[in-house]
Amino acid sequence: MNNHPSLTIKGTGASPGIAIGKAYLLERGQIPVPSYRLFGDEAVADECRRFEEAVAKAESDLEAIKESISSEFKEHARLLEVQQMILRDPSIYDESLRYIEKDRSNAQLAVIKSLRKARELFNGLNDEYAKSRIEDVNAAGDRVIRILAGQNHTNLEDIRERAILIAHDLTPADAIQFQVGRILGVVTEIGGITSHTSIVARSLNIPAVVAAENAARLISTGDILIVDGGTGKIIINPSERDLSFYYERQDELEAYIKQISRHAHLPAVTRDAHRVGAEANIELLEEVVAAKDNGAEAIGLYRTEFFFMNRMELPDEEAIYKDYRDLAELMAPCQVTIRTLDAGADKLTSWFPRLEETNPSLGLRSIRLCLHYKELFKTQLRAILRAGAIAGNIRLMLPMVSGMGEVFQTKNILKEVQSDLSRKRIPFDQNMPFGVMIEVPAAVAMADLLAHEVDFFSIGTNDLIQYTIGIDRSNEHVAYLYEPLHPGVLRFIKQAVDAGHQAGIPVSLCGEMAGEPMYVPILLGLKIDSFSMNPTSLPRVKNLIRRSSMKECCRFANNVLRMSTAQEINQSLRKMVMKKFPEEFRVFEPNWLGEEPVLANRGSAKTNRDTE
Ligand code: PEP
Ligand code: MG
Repeated sequence: MNNHPSLTIKGTGASPGIAIGKAYLLERGQIPVPSYRLFGDEAVADECRRFEEAVAKAESDLEAIKESISSEFKEHARLLEVQQMILRDPSIYDESLRYIEKDRSNAQLAVIKSLRKARELFNGLNDEYAKSRIEDVNAAGDRVIRILAGQNHTNLEDIRERAILIAHDLTPADAIQFQVGRILGVVTEIGGITSHTSIVARSLNIPAVVAAENAARLISTGDILIVDGGTGKIIINPSERDLSFYYERQDELEAYIKQISRHAHLPAVTRDAHRVGAEANIELLEEVVAAKDNGAEAIGLYRTEFFFMNRMELPDEEAIYKDYRDLAELMAPCQVTIRTLDAGADKLTSWFPRLEETNPSLGLRSIRLCLHYKELFKTQLRAILRAGAIAGNIRLMLPMVSGMGEVFQTKNILKEVQSDLSRKRIPFDQNMPFGVMIEVPAAVAMADLLAHEVDFFSIGTNDLIQYTIGIDRSNEHVAYLYEPLHPGVLRFIKQAVDAGHQAGIPVSLCGEMAGEPMYVPILLGLKIDSFSMNPTSLPRVKNLIRRSSMKECCRFANNVLRMSTAQEINQSLRKMVMKKFPEEFRVFEPNWLGEEPVLANRGSAKTNRDTE
């Protein structure tokens, strides 16, 4: 034990489970760049060699990271390939050598100059894609400059001991390295529960807390930490008492998860024989294995935008088709719901012209963006329709629909694509179910009419909460207002479900709420037909569904719908689940009767222990 005083801070629980171990603070400050002129040909030749060696080292470092990425995350490795290519791009490589040889600049300065020129060049181009690669140019350049300065670019694979990672923020490139195995837990100062860091941590069962203000200032490398990814609590240099309490909780959690995972493949049928779907949300094809292992009966949401990320070029129709075909084959005869590109706002911005948008979440995103870039949309629709011919198990779903216009426009485009495929005698699924996500208030208001135009609804609560309450879902300053139990949100869910059912179509829920075991009684009671979630949440949610009574849940939901505040609903829900599922919530929430708010996101948990 150390002698530092114990301190408790609080963030937002983003991936459940308890991590106990030493902190590793990821610091990425600016490094000073020396600037001098070289004297003599020998110095120039030496400096050129030093530069070449630094680039070679940067390349091999990137290669090593790529190799350390498990097959699950191979798709993400493309980001690193882009950086490798940039390192050898003549505009950086040849230009840097030219600055050393002709201007006699030292290597670091030469790299800085060539980076500046490349940035200007990219910015001046009309090619928006080239412009968007500036971030990769900076990252590749930073890596070389740090090597030249004798400082390594801090990669997660450089962390030699198993540790809890503390950072102001993490990039997607960091998140893809979480699985290297030495990351016991993650704490960031900014971000929200639906940020990339949180989603990846949940899918890898790494306990994580985000929006922990000042964590990077208060925590030093080597501090012993307890991180509770459920409640968002972080104890810095805990007492012996805290340690033994949380070690005990870790053991309980582990035993509980092991026990319920044995039944993950049983259907989600309530005690009174009401069956609902238990499906997985995936971002990459590689996650199908985890989905099946955790008992997914279908893919309820394939977030297709991730396949487009971290590439040098937009994938062509054939590449997209193959990805969907493989997914359909892997899941057949089970259903796969492919959502068309949900780009814009926080996702995939690099492919599209950077618009000066004051409110990107309210801007040209999702279906709006697809209807704007019609050719790209058509390419994706063709690939989806063609893949549907393989096993007939694909459903097509549009994100962020705000009214009938977008549905009609898409149907017209679909017709064009279908007749082109027919003309060319390319097989496709002529009867593919067509559905929409309900994630903006206008879609709820229009749900009765929309329901007559589509074959299914899927409620995206992540966005529905954001747009209903009017808070940015990834803004840590308003995270406290992100209330899934807000009566307005629950009423909207009910309205959408009722509208769907009146028109005879099924309604699923694929926001993070579906993966929160705590919400099972309410969502069952609101008559959601299928729950689609992060694969790791499936065993816990299915377990609670099997132990629920539909009749009781309906009664409970009706009561809750009469309540006027999220707090009141929260209290009532706590009481209900404490009574019905005491062991689930004793294990996951020991402070349950305390003041802890109900959090939006919990999946299944893994425990990470290491203070050695
Ligand atoms: C949602 O908004 O609830 C949803 C499932 O979509 P995403 O999280 O990809 O925006
Ligand atoms: Mg959404």
